[in-house]
Amino acid sequence: TQLGAALTISDLTVDYGGGPVLHGVNMDLVPGEVVALLGANGAGKTTLLGALTGRVPVSDGKLIFDGTDLRQLRTEDRARLGLALVPDGQSIVAELTVEENLRLGALWRHQGHARERAIRGIYEMFEPLERRKHADGHQLSGGERQMLALGRALIAEPRLIALDEPSLGLAPLVVVQIMRTLRATAKERGLTVLLAEQNVTGALSIADRGIVLNLGRVVVDAEASTLADDAALRHAYLGF
Ligand code: ATP
Repeated sequence: TQLGAALTISDLTVDYGGGPVLHGVNMDLVPGEVVALLGANGAGKTTLLGALTGRVPVSDGKLIFDGTDLRQLRTEDRARLGLALVPDGQSIVAELTVEENLRLGALWRHQGHARERAIRGIYEMFEPLERRKHADGHQLSGGERQMLALGRALIAEPRLIALDEPSLGLAPLVVVQIMRTLRATAKERGLTVLLAEQNVTGALSIADRGIVLNLGRVVVDAEASTLADDAALRHAYLGF
């Protein structure tokens, strides 16, 4: 078990060429904290996660992961430090079985018996995956695919996991199951979680804190319970 990483984002600006889409964003995540990153379509959530992992070029600002400036590191080196991304669209290898996908995720972290133990650990976390371990990725339901995408990231024992809309297109009961497992795992391992979601209620139900982006700026940064309970705040920034 590793402790979660702290993350400090300061003055983050991203410009794809047509003017900034993130305008000097600041946020601070403490180790083991679950933070919901909220905001409408186009607010900049995916861009922020891309900047974090190195898939999107940063124009200005700092990304400090447990004391290390991520900007000097390539995507693979950020992953080795313990930064995991679960992109939207449930990126698993559809031609491989559930177990093969998990083995792939465990490749550089665990060898031999430790790898098999880690795979069993994921099956305990997501029981449907064990029942489907010999099924190919393309035979899975949306919920099973999302569990596998999450399992494949978690098996490498990241210190911070960033997820892009894990509940997209899933049945409400499956969303609840995945969200609960995510929170329980985070709290058990002390893992830091940055959860980008349009499913505000689902995300706030498991988050410690909610940060709302609007047109590339942070407009709210508050306790999740405050955001969930304050009708005026919700109405002003989340549209319901
Ligand atoms: P969504 O929920 O749709 O993913 P989002 O909050 O994640 O929304 P982004 O996808 O980060 O928002 O988009 C933020 C802004 O950046 C949008 O105006 C979008 O059009 C623009 N954008 C995103 N990717 C690119 C790109 N590769 N090139 C140019 N502009 C982009």
